[in-house]
Amino acid sequence: MEKIVSLCKRRGFIFQSSEIYGGLNGSWDYGPLGVELKRNLKNYWWRTMVQERDDIVGLDGAILMNRAVWKASGHEETFSDPMVDCRTCKARLRADQLPEKKGEKQCPNCGGKDLTEPRPFNLMFKTYVGATEDESSVTYLRPETAQAIFVQFKNVLDTSRKKLPFGIAQIGKAFRNEINPRNFTFRSREFEQMELEYFCRPEQGMELLEYWKEERLKFYSSIGIPREKLHVLTVPDEERAFYSKGTFDIEYEFPFGRQELEGVAYRTDYDLSQHQKASGKSLEYFDEETKQKFIPHVVEPSAGVDRTVLALICEAYVEDEAPDEKGKMETRTVLRFHPRIAPFKCAVFPLLKNNPDLVAKSEQILETLRPHMYVFYDESGAIGRRYRRQDEIGTPFAITVDFETLGDRDASLRDTVTLRDRDSMKQDRVPIGDLISLLTSRIA
Ligand code: ATP
Repeated sequence: MEKIVSLCKRRGFIFQSSEIYGGLNGSWDYGPLGVELKRNLKNYWWRTMVQERDDIVGLDGAILMNRAVWKASGHEETFSDPMVDCRTCKARLRADQLPEKKGEKQCPNCGGKDLTEPRPFNLMFKTYVGATEDESSVTYLRPETAQAIFVQFKNVLDTSRKKLPFGIAQIGKAFRNEINPRNFTFRSREFEQMELEYFCRPEQGMELLEYWKEERLKFYSSIGIPREKLHVLTVPDEERAFYSKGTFDIEYEFPFGRQELEGVAYRTDYDLSQHQKASGKSLEYFDEETKQKFIPHVVEPSAGVDRTVLALICEAYVEDEAPDEKGKMETRTVLRFHPRIAPFKCAVFPLLKNNPDLVAKSEQILETLRPHMYVFYDESGAIGRRYRRQDEIGTPFAITVDFETLGDRDASLRDTVTLRDRDSMKQDRVPIGDLISLLTSRIA
């Protein structure tokens, strides 16, 4: 994990928030490469969950909502984790994550066993809306994106004219005042979620729970997280929310242990019923065929953007062997991102930076490729070093423009380049005219 954290900082994936002031626990900033990786993940989720389907539409709800939402959803009353204090070192700790020694819970900071009784700690960040700081202006930063979907259910239904089963998807920030943020970005206080609320008839709930679990597992495979590194945990009855008829946690084998990436839950009609009751507004669905009105049930796959980004980086990180300039084998650090989520898709190198013809040709190639993909240009240093730099940030392809490209040595090679594959390190000679189709088919 240390190597991954250091690579993230060194190459500009993830920085500590407010670092020059000593940081802020549980907050992280995504640097130039991190923001690309994160965006590619979110865009791909959106494409497969919304744009490539007829039965799902999107929403972008506000982070600040009426406090009544959080009362009705149950968050104000019960969205808490059990907290204990260590009487020895005064640390505040999450009671359900304490290490045990000889069957006795102890403080992970000082090893002390003198701990208070657990008490609930509400994880929502409280804030005030407007100029008056009193009870009447209290609200919270949303601890999940889902509630905006529930309270806008009727508006979306009326405007999109969808029929059951259909879903509403949303990507956005969520905030939880976690007692102990830890494991790099895994448990943060500010993070992003990718959530789908898939509304259905009551009798379809269990079947759709199974369907969405499988769909989500396929999604992870399609971004380079192999099935064998994922585990599906069936959440036992006693740990499930009382209104849920079934919940799966999809877990990934992080270097710090097996941990949740996503929850897939059948939430019945709990959320819509609560909001209908509290708001006094009907959130029912009218079935044209049976002429019946009812509150739809819902299945929710809820994934963490930051946790998935971290899993992608952990999964991609490999140290292997590659020859240096003189052919001697050396250790190479490579991020084997799936091309569809890699920050840069391709790098373009003129063999020599002081040859105007090579540089001009490289610039032409850049111009051709840029409308189709994010391309990195590098002209400094030996070619082997430039490959290595791209390997380390996970760029799947590199194009080198050399004297053959200019047709100086062999007219039949004019306007061809070498295309190097990051993983196999194999180099192929390909015509410039084929580059777009060749690359776009591999990064789609
Ligand atoms: P955990 O048990 O790890 O606290 P949770 O079960 O409370 O997670 P959910 O409420 O199901 O999480 O949230 C859905 C998803 O949002 C999680 O699977 C995770 O990917 C993400 N998520 C939740 N809390 C955090 C956090 N503090 N930091 C980063 N991502 C989070």
